[in-house]
Amino acid sequence: MPEGHTIHRLAARHRALFAGDKLRATSPQGRFAAGAAELSGTVLETTEAYGKHLLHHHPDGRTLHVHLGLYGKFTDGDGEPPEPVGQVRLRLVSDRHWLDLRGPNACELLTPPDVDALRARLGADPLRDDADPDTAYARIRRSPTPLAALLLDQSIVAGTGLIFVTEALFRAGLRPTRVGRRLTRPGWERLWADLRELMRLAVEVGRIDTVHAHHLPDAMGRPPRVDRHGGEVYVYRRAGEACHACGTAIRRADLAGRNSYWCPTCQR
Ligand SMILES: [Zn+2]
Repeated sequence: MPEGHTIHRLAARHRALFAGDKLRATSPQGRFAAGAAELSGTVLETTEAYGKHLLHHHPDGRTLHVHLGLYGKFTDGDGEPPEPVGQVRLRLVSDRHWLDLRGPNACELLTPPDVDALRARLGADPLRDDADPDTAYARIRRSPTPLAALLLDQSIVAGTGLIFVTEALFRAGLRPTRVGRRLTRPGWERLWADLRELMRLAVEVGRIDTVHAHHLPDAMGRPPRVDRHGGEVYVYRRAGEACHACGTAIRRADLAGRNSYWCPTCQR
């Protein structure tokens, strides 16, 4: 599933392509026909991302909400759109650009109270300036749940996925199984600042890079990572490989239904 940086990049892209333009909206597949009809002919005012949720704001309190989930995908292009191929849930067209959405987990119109309710059930998004890390820590510091599970819980921290969580825990020297109530406030402040930095970099470059300069392939004289996720990482999907920092084999275990990865030497 795409992590939050991807959704923030999409929000910025859609804003650049369409904000201020009147859009024609259709649902070639038909499953969002009523919603598309309601949006069609209105102007896209602005867009924003909240965790893994994308919002397109139109006038009169109409907001398009998209959650891509595992299979959702946007494609876009210039000029006239091509004939719809496959299950296009939503197509937006302006005088200059088009955008198709396929396979989302959610594609719906929200009212302002719906948007408030969505935000209320999401935790602090490290990519948002209005995020409240104190509320997140208040949940974490009382919890007997492992940190990896708490940081993946979108009602505590929004936008983080397995890559950011496992990598930030490595960089903090914290084992994924460490329970929330054993995380000190300074420890949380460092972890939060690091998540913000890693996620902002990912928004900028479009992939997740988490290794420090002295652990990059050139600096270590090692081959670069080959993985469809791209980016240089310390532990994510590196089970059995040598830790870039200490050489110990990276471990993997199931934690709260998700794989977790860590270095048994660097993370305590
Ligand atoms: Zn290590």
